[in-house]
Amino acid sequence: MNYIKLRKNNLCVENISAQKLVKKYRTPFYCYSLSQLKNNYHTFNSTFRTVKPIICFSVKSNANLTLLRELKKMGSGADVVSIGELLKATKAGISAKKIVFSGIGKTEEEIRMAIKKRVLLINVESENEVNLINKISKKISRKISIGIRLNPNITGKTHQKISTGGKGEKFGLVYNDFINVCKKIRKMRNLKLEGLSVHIGSQITNVKPFKKVLSVINKIINKTKINFKFIDLGGGMGISYSKKEKQLNLKQYAQLVNKFIKNKNSKIIFEPGRFIIGNAAILITKIIYIKKSNNKNFIVLDAGMNNLMRSALYNAHHQIVPLKKTNKLFKGNLEFVGPVCESSDKFSNQKSFSQIKEGDYVGLANVGAYGMSLSSNYNTRPTIAEIMVNGSKHRVIRKRQSLENLVNN
Ligand SMILES: *Cc1c(COP(=O)(O)O)cnc(C)c1O
Repeated sequence: MNYIKLRKNNLCVENISAQKLVKKYRTPFYCYSLSQLKNNYHTFNSTFRTVKPIICFSVKSNANLTLLRELKKMGSGADVVSIGELLKATKAGISAKKIVFSGIGKTEEEIRMAIKKRVLLINVESENEVNLINKISKKISRKISIGIRLNPNITGKTHQKISTGGKGEKFGLVYNDFINVCKKIRKMRNLKLEGLSVHIGSQITNVKPFKKVLSVINKIINKTKINFKFIDLGGGMGISYSKKEKQLNLKQYAQLVNKFIKNKNSKIIFEPGRFIIGNAAILITKIIYIKKSNNKNFIVLDAGMNNLMRSALYNAHHQIVPLKKTNKLFKGNLEFVGPVCESSDKFSNQKSFSQIKEGDYVGLANVGAYGMSLSSNYNTRPTIAEIMVNGSKHRVIRKRQSLENLVNN
């Protein structure tokens, strides 16, 4: 089900036309569909209903407090990677019993906060992190639950910059180190080794790498004979960004996990980000200029890489949608670019597009994940507003940063 789409040639977010929104809100802004978010969460939940996983939404994909509160209402937990994300997740009302803390560089302050909040699992990524947690737990005389992140040496056939599962990457412990650290932890009386976690990367659209991961985990379990209370399979489930690119077959993945979990009494944890929020937003932006140069038509937008970095950072493609689709076409070499002073500040090249002119608006699709959360003040531009649509209602869920706030530090 798609809640953000062209209806009778008008771009709509649920029951509201984007044209109505641009009359009310200043561009650029992110616009979310709450129904899409709910739909995605429920699809995920029901596809894995046999294993009844703990779903820990990856806060780094989108950290908007209102959206986190909505996810909490649906029953979501959180996967956090910093003290800021941890505090935001708890502020959104997410129970610490449903929070896992990942990341290779947790500081002592972050670890202490995670312990104080009594999170479900701290997923450690190095032996020295284990030692630090052990030291802290001795001081406070409390047993701490930890998981270890495995580096399974499997890459997800995704963009190199979002692949985390290869042995040359900084993440997790490779097979032999994992086994050795398990042995050490068992001798530490202040630590409870409860989890095995893994996350091989993002935007994985083929089920095969996940299948390989499950078999490596089985190997580890056979070798260590540890009955992990939690097996945290991470996130990474890919979505469709273009007609050519299919989303991950989640049902197939669920079948693999069902088979994997049979005869084990572990609880499955997932940490999806993109799958839950990715297609639930569109970035609405205005065409400032159309500049002809060297056989090209540069369509200069008021949104740039500071608002949506994925294209510059990962060569990611986001479909561009007109607010009003016309039968008449604008033909030629069209290049959609932002206003930022960087040549990588461009979104898309097209051979034809709906008839557009300066002052018109377009939307960049599927920007819910790693859109706003990756945005910055580069070029001293304010962070932009986030709007949420629910049926026929719409409201601001993050204000555009004021110029005063922007220039005062
Ligand atoms: C980024 C990340 C996720 C979420 O990845 P998606 O591709 O958005 O599902 C989950 N777990 C960890 C440890 C991560 O770093």
